[in-house]
Amino acid sequence: MNALVVLFLAAFGLAVGSFLNVCIYRLPRRESLSFPASHCTSCQRPLDWFENIPVFGWLALRGRCRTCRAEISPIYPVVEAMTAAVFVAGYLIYGLTPLLAVRVLFACAMLVLFAIDLRHRILPNAITLPGVVAGFLFSIVLPPGWLSSLIGLLAGGGILFAIGEAYFRLRGVEGLGMGDVKMLAMIGAFLGWPLMLLTLVLASFAGSCVGIALMLARRAGARTKLPFGTFLAAGALVAAVAGNEILAWYLAFYE
Ligand SMILES: [Zn+2]
Repeated sequence: MNALVVLFLAAFGLAVGSFLNVCIYRLPRRESLSFPASHCTSCQRPLDWFENIPVFGWLALRGRCRTCRAEISPIYPVVEAMTAAVFVAGYLIYGLTPLLAVRVLFACAMLVLFAIDLRHRILPNAITLPGVVAGFLFSIVLPPGWLSSLIGLLAGGGILFAIGEAYFRLRGVEGLGMGDVKMLAMIGAFLGWPLMLLTLVLASFAGSCVGIALMLARRAGARTKLPFGTFLAAGALVAAVAGNEILAWYLAFYE
C-alpha cells in the first residue's frame, strides 16, 4: 500500500463523486450532463469555484445556498465521500490492476442508481442497458469470466422478471419494474451469478427489514413501493467487497 496513491485516489474519487452528483440530478430530468455549468438548483445562480469543492464546499456553506438560503441535500456530500471510499477500498482490494478500473466503474454506477431510485423511483436505461453490455464484455477477459457473467446476466434478469410477473398476476399491481430487472442483469454481468444471487438475497432481506420497520412506525402501508433498486445497489456494493467471504462462510455450514 502506497500512501501517496491512496491520497491521489481519494482526491480523484471526490472529483468523480462530484460528477456522479451531476448525473444523479440531471439524468432523471433528461438534462445535459455538460451544459450549463453547476448552478444553485433553486435560484439558478452559477456556483463559485469554492462552492464546487467536493464535501468541503457543502460543509463551508452548512448545506444552504449562499444567496437564496435554499437547502442543499446532504446526499451530495455523502455521494462524494462514498465515491472517494470506493476508490480507496477498490485499490486496497485489487491493487492497481485492470479489475480495479472495472469494479470502480461498476460501483460508481451503483451509487448513481442508489440515489436516483431513492429519490425518483426510476432506474434510467442510460445506465442499466450499457451496464449489461459493458459488464459482459469486461468479463470476457477479467473475473468472473464470460460464462459466470452470462449466467448471471440471464438468471438475474430472468428471476426478477418472473417474480414481477407472478406478483402482477396475483395482486394485479406492479411490484417490480423493468428497471429492477435490467439492473440485476447488469449486476450479474459484472459480478457473475453467485454474487448476483447474494446481491438479491441481501437486497430482499434489507428491503424487508426496512419495509417492516416503516410499517411498524406507520410510515408505510402494505402497498407502499420501496425503491428496490436502492437496496440492490447497496447489496451489490457489499457483494463486490465481501461477497466471496460471505459465500464461503455460508457454504461452510453445509460441509
Ligand atoms: Zn440559491
